Amino acid sequence: MANSWGSLLQDEQQLEELAQQAVDRALAEGVLLRTSQEPSSSDVVSYAPFTLFPSLVPAALLEQAYAVQQDFNLLVDAVSQNAAFLEQTLSSTIKRDNFTARLFDIHKQVLKEGIAQTVFLGLNRSDYMFQRNADGSSALKQIEINTISASFGGLASRTPAVHRHVLNVLSKTKEAAKILSNNPSKGLALGIAKAWELYGSANALVLLIAQEKERNVFDQRAIENELLARNIHVIRRRFEDVSARGSLDQNRKLFMDGQEIAVVYFRDGYMPSQYSLQNWEARLLLERSCAVKCPDIATQLAGTKKVQQELSRAGVLEALLPGQPEATARLQATFAGLYSLDMGEEGDQAITEALATPSRFVLKPQREGGGNNLYGDEMVQALERLKDSEERASYILMEKIEPEPFGNCLLRPGSPARVVQCISELGIFGVYVRQGKTFVMNKHVGHLLRTKAIEHADGGVAAGVAVLDNPYPV
Ligand code: ADP
Ligand code: MG
Repeated sequence: MANSWGSLLQDEQQLEELAQQAVDRALAEGVLLRTSQEPSSSDVVSYAPFTLFPSLVPAALLEQAYAVQQDFNLLVDAVSQNAAFLEQTLSSTIKRDNFTARLFDIHKQVLKEGIAQTVFLGLNRSDYMFQRNADGSSALKQIEINTISASFGGLASRTPAVHRHVLNVLSKTKEAAKILSNNPSKGLALGIAKAWELYGSANALVLLIAQEKERNVFDQRAIENELLARNIHVIRRRFEDVSARGSLDQNRKLFMDGQEIAVVYFRDGYMPSQYSLQNWEARLLLERSCAVKCPDIATQLAGTKKVQQELSRAGVLEALLPGQPEATARLQATFAGLYSLDMGEEGDQAITEALATPSRFVLKPQREGGGNNLYGDEMVQALERLKDSEERASYILMEKIEPEPFGNCLLRPGSPARVVQCISELGIFGVYVRQGKTFVMNKHVGHLLRTKAIEHADGGVAAGVAVLDNPYPV
């Protein structure tokens, strides 16, 4: 996967001209973000950062990632229904991590009262990097699975046209035709629509829990638009609105501003900073309702890094997915090394190894949204500080994936087009719907490729580090 577009990357003037064409097409296609100056208004918007060229991805790894997505859907759902597994897995973490503890409290409270919802909807995105093997080949390794607010399905539906445009300008029509069509926003919307239908109330709405300052609103709108095209109405409200004007009736039906809610779709609520005391109360109210939550709190917990680490322990997948050895093997093949830091010999040994060869590891707290992981010297300092404290159980240690870098040109508003060494991260969107014990939908619905300069260890598109891309299968 070395320098994919070869000589095209060398001609600076051509790159600059191509970049202008690409940016204009991106704007025309709706590859948009609100600006950081005006994150609550769409009066002035700009393009979401993206690569000038699609990045080469081995077709076999792309296929492998698609082929394991239904297994991941089943696995997340199985974990979310296994209260004993969640309790045992998170027991040491919740003693030290306040955020996970609060989510877990709500989970316990709802279990005690009895879960009111009968329809379950998962919209997730499993993320991977391509580990470079000693023999020059690459292997698909999972970075994490996002079970709440997995984003960029909307914008990823619009970027293929931009990369086709760039290649067409270069008269590379055969290459342009190789760029895969992609429409995750439609697939995600079909999952919401199915859940809405099974909820079974013609006048009920979808409630999208939104942040006040949301630069990525067009990504969300793509899903809303698909729903409206199916006559399903979406209202956008904040947790604060739910506190002020949300309510449950005696059957735990959820009402917002007097209107019944069939599905609650969270695009907020995955980080500690997003919760005031009042917002926690609102989350509990939503969770207690019989509306379909996407995700319900157990499914959010199933997406924690601690759960990911426990899933890689020998025998755990087999116990969670009994009688499914093929699915288990497909899942295991994507796991990188994952190590518990719970107090005890196993954790001690992991810390010793990480301190001996820090470049081989990443230290991860139970956080989402990018920018929280620790690498290199920072990781060493943190491990030295944590190693004799129970606080270490709120982290996990992970093998660091080392993809082979390649050249591409990252386009961002206000920056000149410049070729840099990059690595990519592939995400596959998964959708499932379960009614009682019966799966009524289990699909993959598209992909997202994000690419970043190699000097950034961490962070996604929203964090301003990675940019949108498309796989060019080879
Ligand atoms: P978050 O929930 O914050 O998105 P991730 O686990 O996805 O957390 O990590 C954030 C970013 O850090 C990833 O997008 C990836 O760029 C980098 N990263 C995470 N884990 C690894 C790893 N094991 N090896 C290399 N890079 C990693
Ligand atoms: Mg991530």
